[in-house]
Amino acid sequence: MKLFNTLTNQLETFKPIYKNTVNMYVCGPTVYNFIQIGNARPVIFFDVVRRYFEYQGYTVNFVSNFTDVDDKIITKALEDETTEIEIANKFIAAFYQDVERVGSSTKYLAPRVTEYMSSIISYIEQLIEKGYAYTIDGDVYFRVGKIAEYGILSGRKLDELNIGSRIEVNQKKENPFDFTLWKKTEVGVNYPSPWGEGRPGWHTECVAMIQDIFDGPIDIHGGGADLMFPHHENEIAQNRALHPHYIANYWMHNGHLNIDNKKMSKSEGRYILVKDLDVDYMGFRLFTLSTHYRAPINYTDEVLESYVQEWDKIKRAYTQAFYKLDLAEYLDETIHDYEELKLIKQRFIAAMDQDFNTPNAITELQNLVKYTNQKIRQKDALSPLLSAVHLFDTFFEILGLTANIKRMSKETRSIYMEWADARKNKDFEKADRLRERLTERGVLS
Ligand SMILES: [Zn+2]
Repeated sequence: MKLFNTLTNQLETFKPIYKNTVNMYVCGPTVYNFIQIGNARPVIFFDVVRRYFEYQGYTVNFVSNFTDVDDKIITKALEDETTEIEIANKFIAAFYQDVERVGSSTKYLAPRVTEYMSSIISYIEQLIEKGYAYTIDGDVYFRVGKIAEYGILSGRKLDELNIGSRIEVNQKKENPFDFTLWKKTEVGVNYPSPWGEGRPGWHTECVAMIQDIFDGPIDIHGGGADLMFPHHENEIAQNRALHPHYIANYWMHNGHLNIDNKKMSKSEGRYILVKDLDVDYMGFRLFTLSTHYRAPINYTDEVLESYVQEWDKIKRAYTQAFYKLDLAEYLDETIHDYEELKLIKQRFIAAMDQDFNTPNAITELQNLVKYTNQKIRQKDALSPLLSAVHLFDTFFEILGLTANIKRMSKETRSIYMEWADARKNKDFEKADRLRERLTERGVLS
């Protein structure tokens, strides 16, 4: 399996640290708001990464954190006259709802920063001890100048950066790029530390939690491309200060999601929350996966709608094949390796093996739809249909798509037979009545 490693800027063959195991970490949300559709992209894509590795027989230890202490959470708590923990709990629950909506699994380890405070503090203490961090008036900063390879991930070099325009120049710091490991705070929730009361800096949270949970380097570190600098660069720097190895062997970054070819912006009205999407979420998932994860996605209502319709087409072929087997009471459960299906599957797997090329994989799902529709129209094609349904199940499992159909009950089956008879006999009134009942039961749409 090949994946594009942002650290080396090239396509590499995946080799796990531990046999048949993938240890991976994806930066999670800061929980002070509902997530917008751009935030759903890593939620969907990295879920597919996990699913595909599992399909290939790996055990995947998937970790994605919640940043539940942050200035934005403190501000929101003050605005709403509540506590930071209430805000965090509310938006963590909302996040999980959205994760489920878009078809991703919520069954993974999701550490909260506030639960790892002692690990984070001891991580900072080690950095100070080794001379990579210094304290000024209760704040702790990381000394970036001490890391020779600073910039290795983003390709940005310290001396090439236009300091004034990029970040706030803080006179207290030794170097304007030194970042905060611990921030002294007087407003909002704070925690005791050797440097006084305060809270950790965002960049140190992930790296300290990864160290605590995995106790060593991980295979894959993922996140949005906007996190590459400075967040991930700073994670690498802190880890290198304490360890000879890198924090992760492979870095994977997903591209942005734009709306009408522009960056999402709340103030300019280009801002859509996941919970407010008024479509079948499987259509949204298909839309998201139809662009390669490293490329930007351009969202428009029309494009999303076309994928919702595409999903309908896929679901219809699958459902009809399923019911055709059900109605024929087809009991043979042998899955045959039909040549055409074999090729579709091979091309699907080859696409996924090539840096998770989901758009090409989806093309094969569409080829499977064509194949299935042909077989539905043919007589005596029940065995190929069964094999096609089986392949649909595999593709759905990998891509995280759910068609949500149930086996027909005996009663439903007899209504279906009656409906088919009525149509054959051109008794349209009766057929319409029966059609309505079948629609109610979800058999016809
Ligand atoms: Zn992170």
